[in-house]
Amino acid sequence: MKNSFPIIILTLLSINLTACMTAPISGKKSMNFITEGQERKMGEDAYAEVMTKEKIMTDARYVEPIRRTGLRIAGAANRPDFKWEFNVIDSETMNAFCLPGGKIAFYRGIFPIALNEAGAAAIMGHEVGHAIARHGAQRISMNMAMVGGLSVLQGTLLKDNPKKDNLMALLGMGSQVGVALPFSRSNENEADEIGIILMARAGYDPSEAPLIWERFEKVGGGKPPELLSTHPSEGKRRDHLRELMTRAMEEYNKAPVKYGKGENLPI
Ligand SMILES: [Zn+2]
Repeated sequence: MKNSFPIIILTLLSINLTACMTAPISGKKSMNFITEGQERKMGEDAYAEVMTKEKIMTDARYVEPIRRTGLRIAGAANRPDFKWEFNVIDSETMNAFCLPGGKIAFYRGIFPIALNEAGAAAIMGHEVGHAIARHGAQRISMNMAMVGGLSVLQGTLLKDNPKKDNLMALLGMGSQVGVALPFSRSNENEADEIGIILMARAGYDPSEAPLIWERFEKVGGGKPPELLSTHPSEGKRRDHLRELMTRAMEEYNKAPVKYGKGENLPI
């Protein structure tokens, strides 16, 4: 065990030579041992699995506004390599997620929090923020470093093996596997920052973003595992979003088409 340690470090370092990345919008730098291709594959496999297990809604009143908003957020995210997909899961869970590769799901339970398309855009922007800043891959990389090697990536990552649930949780799929792994405070702040800029560039009024947290506070009770992680608190996130408002409003003013708050969602 002792002797293999330097080899592992060297392997990680050599892979990492091309793996230091800078996130869009926030400009934050981070280390990643996983290529974007590997990460996308993980996201696509995990999404396909979730979609076969969950009840997917076909009611256009729910699905259409999410797809419409999603395509606008996708346009602002400027990731032509992503194969964007938007689905609504028929469940009371107050959550939403975006997996690497642009695989997005909204749960029916979050519609009253989103309230309108701008609210959906704020939530989606936040989740897309995690994906394009590669927070899932960062967590997997840290986990790999801790367990001491790259073997976790070898072979069949997301097929039936005991590491699969762990990987899905690391990717931000805690609600699916019952292991809630909140992103760190700095990851959440970064996703909030990227999210509000994306929604503004997509043409949605960014003043709706802090209102999401007021609605979450009012609802209280069972907290969604990812979107409302234990920290930062709702109040802190709302304040952070208000600090970002001047910059977000500048982006909104530059948006070629403005949708304001968009249409109200069915609740
Ligand atoms: Zn988040």
